[in-house]
Amino acid sequence: MKIAILSRNAKLYSTRRLIEAAKERGHEVRVLDVLRCYMNIASHRPSIHYKGEDLTDFDAVIPRLGASVTFYGTAVLRQFEMMGVYPLSESVAITRSRDKLRSLQLLARKGIGLPVTGFAHAPDDIDDLLKMVGGAPVVIKLLEGTQGIGVVLADNKKAAQSVIEAFMGLKTHILVQEFIKEAAGSDIRCFVIGDKVVAAMKRQAPEGEFRSNLHRGGTATLVRITPEERSTAIRAAQTMGLNVAGVDVLRSNHGPLVMEVNSSPGLEGIEAATDKDIAGKIIEFIEKNATRGRTRTRGK
Ligand code: ADP
Ligand code: GLU
Repeated sequence: MKIAILSRNAKLYSTRRLIEAAKERGHEVRVLDVLRCYMNIASHRPSIHYKGEDLTDFDAVIPRLGASVTFYGTAVLRQFEMMGVYPLSESVAITRSRDKLRSLQLLARKGIGLPVTGFAHAPDDIDDLLKMVGGAPVVIKLLEGTQGIGVVLADNKKAAQSVIEAFMGLKTHILVQEFIKEAAGSDIRCFVIGDKVVAAMKRQAPEGEFRSNLHRGGTATLVRITPEERSTAIRAAQTMGLNVAGVDVLRSNHGPLVMEVNSSPGLEGIEAATDKDIAGKIIEFIEKNATRGRTRTRGK
């Protein structure tokens, strides 16, 4: 097969591993800087050009889109879909999962366990919003945040009010969420491919920190997940429509709660913690599922 990887940087661990795994399995693979793809939006013969060259004949495309290139990146991916190239995950699923609020609403609609989450626009409504989510302590999150940046724990009502007011004053959108204390600074990253959790790791925040992101100094270890955690992660990925997803789950007293579903989950932490060839499993999934022109929504 001829596989394209949409990535900004061929040297990133995840991209390197996908190239390696594709080559090992006998495929032709090429990394395309998504910002250098330009397109002719024509109905009869949609095309993509890359540094002057007409891109043709790809069987599958692996999107590895960073949050900052979501808008342009999903447009390029959609164009590949229009050309009948099989996307590892569809553009519409990536767009959906990048919007935290929309994702939580879709997951809630499917009855998937979530931390109690509030969302409001006007400062006048803060008091009632805090009551709605069960009062302080609460976690306040910037909607545009990633890697734990813009995630704040407010211990008491006064602190919560002033942090929420400050964010609202900056005209940013925020979520206010019940704090899951019993998770004790850890979460579970479930790596989903197709309808399976192929690997899972527990991430633990350093002493004195509640955010377990590896970028915030968290450490990862192998973990055994429960059947309920397994099925929750799979249903969350399916609700987003993602074939590959990193589902972050908090262990609460009342079962697994999904925090977020990542459409370009990193491979480095999970391969190191579990000693599994996740890149190989992704390529294997493409081998089993890629047929030209099989895109379900054709980019809808
Ligand atoms: P990001 O998308 O920036 O990684 P998250 O929503 O995943 O933001 O939050 C970062 C980390 O903070 C999580 O990995 C988790 O450890 C911790 N965390 C987030 N929300 C809660 C919560 N409601 N209760 C307890 N811990 C939380
Ligand atoms: N209509 C689009 C679809 O079928 C978007 C739906 C949504 O994300 O809520 O995929």
